[in-house]
Amino acid sequence: MKRRKFLKNASLTGVGLAVGTAVTSCNEQVEDKSIASKENPESKAVLPVVVATWHVIDATAKAMEVIESGGSALDAVELGCKIEEANEKGQSVGKGGLPDREGNVTLDACIMDKNGNCGAVLYLKDIKHAVSVARKVMEDTPHVMLAGEGAKQFALESGFEAEDLLTEASKKAWEKWKVESKYKPIINIENHDTIGMLAVDKNGDVSGACTTSGLAYKMNGRVGDSPIIGSGLFVDNEVGGAVATGLGEEVVKTVGSFLIVELMRQGKSPQEACEEAIGRIVNKPGKDYKDFQVGYIAVNKKGETGCYSIHQWFSMTKFQDGVNEQIQSHFFNKS
Ligand code: ASP
Repeated sequence: MKRRKFLKNASLTGVGLAVGTAVTSCNEQVEDKSIASKENPESKAVLPVVVATWHVIDATAKAMEVIESGGSALDAVELGCKIEEANEKGQSVGKGGLPDREGNVTLDACIMDKNGNCGAVLYLKDIKHAVSVARKVMEDTPHVMLAGEGAKQFALESGFEAEDLLTEASKKAWEKWKVESKYKPIINIENHDTIGMLAVDKNGDVSGACTTSGLAYKMNGRVGDSPIIGSGLFVDNEVGGAVATGLGEEVVKTVGSFLIVELMRQGKSPQEACEEAIGRIVNKPGKDYKDFQVGYIAVNKKGETGCYSIHQWFSMTKFQDGVNEQIQSHFFNKS
């Protein structure tokens, strides 16, 4: 089942909050909203490993192919994310991403390597492979972040081609949204799905990347967590990596991915670290977590993995030990 179709099936509340996707074999479970039997199994310490947010088996397959043919974890996460950026049917990443309220498709992405180098682009327009531009920022400039017009100018000068990222389908969805134009961005069935990917290669070297068109119908100029190193993504080669999806504002406020890596450094498993990071969000006084979703995935240097979310229907795709599969995430809100 495709991600978006699943999202529509997985509405949780009156605001249509939903968070997930499904493997074909889990269809029945998706429909009756029970938990997949393959939910979050005991994770193994096996290398290499690739994990990604949501149901993106083509992307994880590409990443593993890169690693198996001798490529680095960094190449793996970049090429893996590019698969989803080029997929016009995915309305949350790259070409075909849903626009902001004024019709601009703006992309956020970042990448981080085993040496702690990182690069990011924010509010990038007209260039589909934001993750590759982020890598260029990391490798070819003295900076970490480029935003807006400057990011686009740099991309064009680096040989990327400009194209209109607003597809007919996304334009139609935006026009439909404009009829009511609800001002407050609420994370819901139409507006989440950052693709975040982490890889640990055969040498135990860790890299990560994430890419998104951000919250659908966001305010013009809004940037989420995904290009913010430490929030949307963090990698430390001594420890492992973590990446986020969901309402970026909440991830930024808790510096979620950095937190998870630091918790793993202190001895927590990837699963325990993801759970604590979600706890930091939902346990804030007065926080009404019922109206938004956040999901985290993490991997440590040994290849153990974890994933956790506020609500049901978040999932992780994992390629490890010859198996490329989707895993339903455990979640906090059981009500
Ligand atoms: N985290 C992204 C953002 O807030 C959105 C998402 O993952 O759906 O921009």
